[in-house]
Amino acid sequence: MRKAPRILVVEDEAAIAELIAVNLRHNGFAPTLVFDAEAARREVDAELPDIILLDWMLPGESGVSLARSWRQHERTKAIPILMLTARSDESDKVQGLDAGADDYITKPFSTKELLARIRAVLRRRTPDAADDTVCVGDLILDTATYRVNFRGQELKVGPTEFKLLHHLMKNAERVHARGALLDRVWGDHVFIEERTVDVHIKRLREALGVAGAMIETVRGAGYRLTALGLKSAVPVSADNPAP
Ligand code: CA
Repeated sequence: MRKAPRILVVEDEAAIAELIAVNLRHNGFAPTLVFDAEAARREVDAELPDIILLDWMLPGESGVSLARSWRQHERTKAIPILMLTARSDESDKVQGLDAGADDYITKPFSTKELLARIRAVLRRRTPDAADDTVCVGDLILDTATYRVNFRGQELKVGPTEFKLLHHLMKNAERVHARGALLDRVWGDHVFIEERTVDVHIKRLREALGVAGAMIETVRGAGYRLTALGLKSAVPVSADNPAP
C-alpha cells in the first residue's frame, strides 16, 4: 500500500484547520496542523511534507513571506505549496504565485475543490507518482514488483539504490544537487552527510553495470540520469562496430 501523502496545513483559524484535517484524513492523506509561520518552519525543518496548504493571512509572518523563503532554499524549494486565502483579487493571486505557490484556492472552498487541487498539484509535481513503471532508454524500473531491467536483463539493486534510481529516472535529464537527493530519497538530510549520496551513487552504478554510465556526475552541481550517457560509454569493438 502506498504511504499516505503528508500534508502540512498552516492555518491560524482553528475551526477551518480542523475541518480541512478531517476531510484530508477521510481521503487518505496524513495532515499535520500548525497555526503560525514559526511552527510551520519547525515542522518543515524536521521533515519535508509532500505538500503544504498555506494560509495567506497568518499572525506574524505571512504565508506569502513563508512561501518565498522556502522557495529560496535548496532543501525546500521544490515542496508543492497550495495557498489558501480569503482574498479573491487577481493581483493577490499573482502575488501568491510569484511568491512560489503552485496553486491558489479562495475561501470559502468546498472539500471537493480542495482535494481536486491538492491532487492536481501533486500530479504536476510528481507526474508519474501514479505509474508503477518508469522507463528511460532501455532501463525499466517497476515499483510494483521492485524490479529493474536493462535490455531485458534483471539487475540486482539494493533498497536505497532503488529509491535513488527511481527518483533519478522520474526526473531524468535534470541535475540533482546532493542535498536535494538526500531530501527526496532519504526524506531528511539533517543527520546524513552529503558524502553518503556519493557512496550510494557508486553502488548504484556498479549494480547497473553497463547502464551505470547513464548516471553522470555534473561537476560542482550533482548528478543526472540521462539516456544519452550510455552511447558514449558503449565501447567500439569488432563485436560492436561504430555506425
Ligand atoms: Ca488566517
